[in-house]
Amino acid sequence: MIKENLAKVRSTLSDGVQLVAVSKTKPVEMLQEAYDAGQRLFGENKALEMRDKHAVLPQDIEWHFIGHLQTNKIKYIAEYVSLIHSIDSLHLLEAVDKEAEKHDRVIDCLLQFHIATEETKFGLDMGEAEALLESAEFASMQHIRIVGVMGMATNTDNFDLVRQEFRTLHGYFEQLKAKYFAGHEEFKEVSMGMSHDYQIAMDEGATLVRIGSTIFGARDYGVPVNDV
Ligand SMILES: *Cc1c(COP(=O)(O)O)cnc(C)c1O
Repeated sequence: MIKENLAKVRSTLSDGVQLVAVSKTKPVEMLQEAYDAGQRLFGENKALEMRDKHAVLPQDIEWHFIGHLQTNKIKYIAEYVSLIHSIDSLHLLEAVDKEAEKHDRVIDCLLQFHIATEETKFGLDMGEAEALLESAEFASMQHIRIVGVMGMATNTDNFDLVRQEFRTLHGYFEQLKAKYFAGHEEFKEVSMGMSHDYQIAMDEGATLVRIGSTIFGARDYGVPVNDV
């Protein structure tokens, strides 16, 4: 099933778009199945769950952290995480920088923007992002690298609204690129789009789509996960 689902999703991806297989809450057997079908990039949203899966799965998997990250949990992922999508404060970025230094690494990060109409979604607005990027603290960090932006659209069937929100996020990306990252080739990622809206996200310039349920099936949040 997973193999077929992956093939189907892959066949719909635009050129240059990378697939993050969102495996949160799913058992390692299912991730292994996706791995055997050629998938190497996985997204998780809990640090302890990622740690446990990283420990038992093949070491050439690229782990992307896509959830709200608490500073006291960074230590569980800092050694191997390849991209953190969810930087939503200077404080968090400083903490990532510190943990990355302990492992003598530079960790790639995305700035998460609040683009949805829902109150509950995390993320920066443009003013906050600019303040972060202009801060002395940011200037002194040597163990993180900002490579783009991430956002989650409103969970709605109003696809005009979803499209507008993705367009807004892509606009932020362009603005930041021009103002702070001109000539920085690494600043190129726009992480947006999930199972129900990734086609729209690709239309609007996504470079990373984060797809879970279409690949692994619906999630059962009744099953306790490791990191609460
Ligand atoms: C769970 C999750 C996804 C994937 O959602 P699906 O609807 O299952 O594709 C994408 N991004 C984030 C941040 C998530 O938490």
